Amino acid sequence: MDYCIRYVDLPCRLNGVTVMDGDGFFNIYINARLDYYHQQKAIQHELTHVARGDFFKNSSLEEIESM
Ligand SMILES: [Zn+2]
Repeated sequence: MDYCIRYVDLPCRLNGVTVMDGDGFFNIYINARLDYYHQQKAIQHELTHVARGDFFKNSSLEEIESM
């Protein structure tokens, strides 16, 4: 799985977000405001979505996050 992790300032409620582009490449954005520990947790969380193939499922973000 191809992915790229970027550290950006996100709205404070968001730890991280993953966006799949048209080529199936995953761009993982991690909130730069978090401390190192929580950034690592956020990366793990986003990679879990990628590994599970959540982005190929036809479910809403709310459904994915509640799994
Ligand atoms: Zn998530």
